[in-house]
Amino acid sequence: MAAAPPVQLSERVFLLPGGVNVVLVVEGRRALVIDSGQGKEGARRVRRALEALDVAPCAILTSHAHADHFGGHARLLRRWRVPVHAPPIEAELMRAPFLEPVYLAHGAAPAPELLGPWFMAEPSPVDALLAPGHAHIEGFDLHVHDVSGHAHRQFAFEVDDVLVAADAVFGPAVLERYPLPFGQDAARQAAAAAWVGERRVRLVVPGHGEPDAPAVLGQATVAALERVRRAVTEAVDQGSVEAPGAIGAPGTDAEWVESHEILARVAAALDVPEVDLARWHLDHTTVQAHLQALRQDGRLRPRVRGHRLAWGPA
Ligand SMILES: [Zn+2]
Repeated sequence: MAAAPPVQLSERVFLLPGGVNVVLVVEGRRALVIDSGQGKEGARRVRRALEALDVAPCAILTSHAHADHFGGHARLLRRWRVPVHAPPIEAELMRAPFLEPVYLAHGAAPAPELLGPWFMAEPSPVDALLAPGHAHIEGFDLHVHDVSGHAHRQFAFEVDDVLVAADAVFGPAVLERYPLPFGQDAARQAAAAAWVGERRVRLVVPGHGEPDAPAVLGQATVAALERVRRAVTEAVDQGSVEAPGAIGAPGTDAEWVESHEILARVAAALDVPEVDLARWHLDHTTVQAHLQALRQDGRLRPRVRGHRLAWGPA
């Protein structure tokens, strides 16, 4: 299948549309590559776009270390060994990509379903750590912003009047398909989405889906995260169903809801379609992130009893 041609979004910014958005920042015959998509397909898309625009890459910038965003790095680097830039922490995951399936599997040896290209990329070197603020990279000027939360560290890149926000925001169509958007630090994720929504740029490029105005993507993401937070809160408020007649009664065992039951209730409340084992691990991580955020806010607290992790009112 022929890849869609690059779409020029501003003087220097070109979008390579696909399942995962990749961006080229072009000056003269040189380009910065922002993210590389997933594995072989992602690298091929970048290579074709570079050829179509007749430019050579001079660095690869990484928004965050999820395999679908840096999975093409290794292949590109075999052809062009340019410096790779990445946020701290994420850099370690890129050097040892086995850690992504490992953390999704709570540290245990991951199931084979977690070892595919969506979860485990080829390792990539990282030559320089990014930091928020003005950046001057290989002669290119741009701004780096901290939009962490979806990943533990995630950076957005502002070039011209375009913000390449990666997975800090999701478009309405993506959120309809994934009503439980993945996140690792739910409080910071909500703050980052709100920040993107207020940013004074013309266009925001999300990690997946169509570029749009900041307010459209920011507000859609904030609303989706609020729905998840509400669903998690309500899942705990309903109390245990194992103690009939005492559902959620204060001060009783019935107010504690087992962690996996919370995930099932949240999925039902949000109409999340049935998932496979790999997707379950993503959803589980997301719900845990929201539970931790609610604990930080003094709303909920965890307890382990009878070898069951349960959550109840704080
Ligand atoms: Zn991601």
